[in-house]
Amino acid sequence: MVKVVKFGGSSLASAEQFRKVAQIIYADDTRRYVVPSAPGKRFDGDTKVTDMLYSCYSLAVKGKSFDSEFEAIKDRYNSIIEELNIDLNLEKEFETIKACFIGRAGRDYAASRGEYLSGMTLAAYLGYEFVDSAEIIFFNEDGSFDSKRTAKAVANRLEAAERAVIPGFYGSMPNDTIKTFSRGGSDVTGSIVASGVNADLYENWTDVSGFLICDPRIVENPEPIRTITYKELRELAYMGATVLHEDAIFPVRKAGIPINIKNTNEPDDAGTFIVESTSQKPLYTVTGIAGKKGFAVVNIEKDMMNSELGFGRKVLEQFEKNGISFEHMPSGIDTMSIVVHQEEFVKKEQEILSGIHRNVHPDLIDIETDLALIAVVGRGMKSERGTAGRIFSALAHAHVNVKMIDQGSSELNIIIGVHERDFEKAVKAIYEIFVLQRL
Ligand code: ASP
Repeated sequence: MVKVVKFGGSSLASAEQFRKVAQIIYADDTRRYVVPSAPGKRFDGDTKVTDMLYSCYSLAVKGKSFDSEFEAIKDRYNSIIEELNIDLNLEKEFETIKACFIGRAGRDYAASRGEYLSGMTLAAYLGYEFVDSAEIIFFNEDGSFDSKRTAKAVANRLEAAERAVIPGFYGSMPNDTIKTFSRGGSDVTGSIVASGVNADLYENWTDVSGFLICDPRIVENPEPIRTITYKELRELAYMGATVLHEDAIFPVRKAGIPINIKNTNEPDDAGTFIVESTSQKPLYTVTGIAGKKGFAVVNIEKDMMNSELGFGRKVLEQFEKNGISFEHMPSGIDTMSIVVHQEEFVKKEQEILSGIHRNVHPDLIDIETDLALIAVVGRGMKSERGTAGRIFSALAHAHVNVKMIDQGSSELNIIIGVHERDFEKAVKAIYEIFVLQRL
């Protein structure tokens, strides 16, 4: 059994957090490959080391002095090293990094040093081998991830290492410069390493005990999600539920490796398992509820629309031409609605509307704004009758007017459009009917 364990920035923010991480790793002999982030925030208002590095590098590029900012970064590491009594001196590394900043080694190089130093520190603390990600994670010339070359290199290099720390977030370009993934990208490194060593499990340690059924800012203390499938996660992530970097799913999913989201501060909590499929019955019909505000709807009416060949294409063409992607498209016999992101749409609305007029001569076009979309997601919905009915009766009882309904053909989700002012009320009502009343 092999587990790859990734620890996020808040899990490595201070000496105390490093201690917890070591305890977690030592508690399970199969946790052999460790992927750390850079130290994150220790308290509200604190700055992540990655952000400190970005601003330091900006100063360097402008030819300004960055000494005091750099000292602050050194302090973050040195205080951890001192407090934990680690036999490690990073002075040489700091000097090299400083020289590379002056030599303009690049913003990505600068940011990556957070993980690099964090990896060195953790490796020394654990007594594990340090494997630089620059040697095993590769990008193509065009900046895309080189999965083939990386998979081979990870497998070969880590075969030779019984236990190792591999810093997250970065890899090498073909010309040996450093490139990072997008923000939060240590999740991606963890996933790549897990797939490369053919791990049995990818544990992603963070500061929450997994995914919650809905946003805790809306419902107090929502229940955690024990098991979620990749497909369900994708639906919820699209609606803004984020715990994991989106690109972190692909490598492990392809290799059939489950992910377990765990809480460094509550290691005994089960967390959330993300799996391809499961025979485990979900506790509730609904796995998760997530939503977003900021949508607009363009409603189009035309008599006999349904028999007009190419009508839909001609309408959508106008959105495409103006670079606006549409999110949903519920339709009736003589009506069609296009749901878009309001902020983007507003800038192009007149071009799009006049284009539609010219192209399809509708009887009526109107625009509704300030719409919120709520996705009710659950693999359990497929085999259950009356889910939609229950959702809508809950919303009616809560005096929420439903403006749009869209059920995906997979029967995995129902998307509901409500006015933004009803958003929180609607989420609460749906949570209540499915979770609190255990229907
Ligand atoms: N340290 C990087 C960031 O702050 C990457 C990560 O933590 O995953 O985005």
